[in-house]
Amino acid sequence: MCGIIGYCGPRIAAPILVEGLKRLEYRGYDSAGIAVAQEGRLNVVKRAGKISNLRSHVPPEMPGIIGIGHTRWATHGEVTDGNAHPHTDRGGKVAIVHNGIIENYQSLKDRLESEGVTFVSETDSEVIAHLIASFYQGDLEQAVKETVGLLKGTYGIVAMHADEPDRLVGARNGSPLVLGVGEDEMFLASDVTAIIAHTRQVIYLEDGEVVSVSHRDYRTTDLRNNHIEKQIDHIGWELEEIEKAGFTHFMEKEIHEQPESIRRATKGRIDLEYATGHLGGLNLTNRELLDINRVKILAAGTSYHAGLVAAYVLEALARIPTTAELASELRYRNPIVERNSLYFAISQSGETADTLYAMREVQRKGGRVLGICNVVGSTIARESDGGVYIHSGPEIAVASTKAFTSQLTAFYLFALIMGRMRDMSHEQGLRFAQDLDSVPGHIETILGTTGKIQDLAKRYARFDNFLFLGRGINYPVALEAALKLKEVSYIHAEGYSAAEIKHGPIALINEETPSFFIVPDDGLRGKVINNMKEVKARQGPVIALAVEGDDEVASIADDTLFVPHTSELMYPFLMTVPTQLFAYYCALERECNVDQPRNLAKSVTVE
Ligand code: GLU
Repeated sequence: MCGIIGYCGPRIAAPILVEGLKRLEYRGYDSAGIAVAQEGRLNVVKRAGKISNLRSHVPPEMPGIIGIGHTRWATHGEVTDGNAHPHTDRGGKVAIVHNGIIENYQSLKDRLESEGVTFVSETDSEVIAHLIASFYQGDLEQAVKETVGLLKGTYGIVAMHADEPDRLVGARNGSPLVLGVGEDEMFLASDVTAIIAHTRQVIYLEDGEVVSVSHRDYRTTDLRNNHIEKQIDHIGWELEEIEKAGFTHFMEKEIHEQPESIRRATKGRIDLEYATGHLGGLNLTNRELLDINRVKILAAGTSYHAGLVAAYVLEALARIPTTAELASELRYRNPIVERNSLYFAISQSGETADTLYAMREVQRKGGRVLGICNVVGSTIARESDGGVYIHSGPEIAVASTKAFTSQLTAFYLFALIMGRMRDMSHEQGLRFAQDLDSVPGHIETILGTTGKIQDLAKRYARFDNFLFLGRGINYPVALEAALKLKEVSYIHAEGYSAAEIKHGPIALINEETPSFFIVPDDGLRGKVINNMKEVKARQGPVIALAVEGDDEVASIADDTLFVPHTSELMYPFLMTVPTQLFAYYCALERECNVDQPRNLAKSVTVE
C-alpha cells in the first residue's frame, strides 16, 4: 500500500534510503524503517511515526552500501515499532519490505510456528521473511521465487540477504514495483518519485515478475525462471515537480497548478478545423466509436466524482446513456457487460485496487475498458485497452485536486469527440472547445481571490458539520467539496443534491450547521435559491458560491464567494476550485496535516 525503496551500489545506503522514503511520504503512512547489510550482518532501524522520527534513530555513520526501506500503512497489526518493516528472519540474515496484503498469511504462519519459528510482529508480512529463510540455499532469487509461489494476495516485495552483499530481489503481484537503472547502481521502488533524484531510466515490473539486481546489472524472470525482456522507460518530468516550489503545502501548490495542468491536458488535443477533440490513445476507430451505445465509468473517491460529472457531460453532448459507478461495488455484483458498451476506469495513480479489479472483471467478460490515469506506466494504464493520460504532473498531496480537474478535462474532450460524431454541429463544437479553452483563465481569476476564501475559512472552520449542496452537473461538485473538507480538515461534511435536503438532511439544519450552496446561473438557479431560503428560515448559516454579479444570491446568503461567468457545462471546474481552497484553509485553521491526512493513503492498492 505504501512505500518501498531499495538501493544497491557504491554509495552509503542509509541516507539514500531515508531520502527516498521522505519522497514517498506523500502517500500517507504510519511507520517507517530501513535495513542495511554490512559484513554479513543486517542493521535494522524502524519506528512508528514520521520519517523524522526514524531519521533521528539512524546512526549518522551507519555503514553499508546495500539496503531496503519502507513506509508502512498498517493493514495487519497495530502501528508499533515492531510491526514496522523491514521484517527479518530468526537468524537475522533475511530482511524484507512488503506492500500489500498476504491473504493466506495465517495458514503460512501456523505452519511455520509448528516448525518452531517464533513471530515477533502481528503483521501478515513477517511470514515472507521466514519463508525466504526456510528456502534459502545460497540463492536469494530462488528462495524469493519459491516463497512468492506460496503467497496469495497482493504484494510488492524487496528482499535482501546479509550473505549476498550485492543482491536485491524484487517481486510484484498487484502492488507496483519499479526498477531504477543508475550508473553503477540500481534502485527498486514502489513509485518513481523515490528515485527520480538519482536516475530517470526505469523499468516497470508486471505482476508475476521477479527482478534480481546487483549494482551493475539486473535480470527479470517469471516464477518459472523464464527470462523476460523488459524495456527501459525514460521519466520525462523534473524533480522540481515533486517539490513545493515556494508553497507551504503540496495541496496548495497543486490547487494553484490547475490552470497549467488543465492546459497540459488539452494541449494538442483540440482540433479547431473540425471542431472536435483528438485523443490518440483511445485505440478505437471512428466507426467503432459510432457503434457505442452505452458508457460506464468505474472509479473510486474523487475520481468517482469526476466520473459523475463526466457522465452528465457525455449524455448532454452525445446523448449516449452514461453512468458512473463505484468500482468496488461493480466488481462484486456480476456486471452485465454488453457488446456495444464502452467502459472507463478513472484513477489518478492508475493503481487503485478497487478500480483495477473492476476493470479486470469487465475485461474478463469481454468488455473494452479505457483508462484515464495520471501516472504513466501504471497498472491500469498498461492493462486497459487504451485511454487518456491526463498529464497533470505528479500529484503529491493525498487529497486529490488537480487530478480531478484534469480528469474532467480528458473526459470533456472525449465527450466533444462523441458529440461531434452525433448531434453537435461544427458551431456548437467550436463553442464548446472555446469554452473549455477559457477555463484555465477563469481559474486564474478565482485563484486571485484566495484571501477572501481564507478569511471565510477562518470564520467557519470552528463548525463541526457542513452540508454542501448543488444541482445537476454541480451535484457531484458538492459531493467532491464535502469529501475534500472531510479528508483534510476532519470536519464532518455531506454532499447532497440541494433538492434532496427536504427529504431528510434538513433535519440537521440549525445555527451550528452551515450549508454551502453552489449556485451557477443555470436553469436550476431559481430552485437552488428556494433551497437557500428554506435553510435560512431554519437559522442555518449559508455560504453561497455564485456567479459574479449575482446580487440576489448574495443578499440571501450570509457569505458569498464569486466565480466568473461561463457556459453551463464548464461550471464544475470553476465551482470546484474555491471549495478546494476552502477545505485547505479550514485544515490550516484546525492545524491538520494537510498533505498527509490521518488514516489516508495516496494510492489505495488494497481492496
Ligand atoms: N500488510 C502489511 C502490514 O500491515 C503491509 C502494509 C503496507 O502496504 O504498507 O504491515
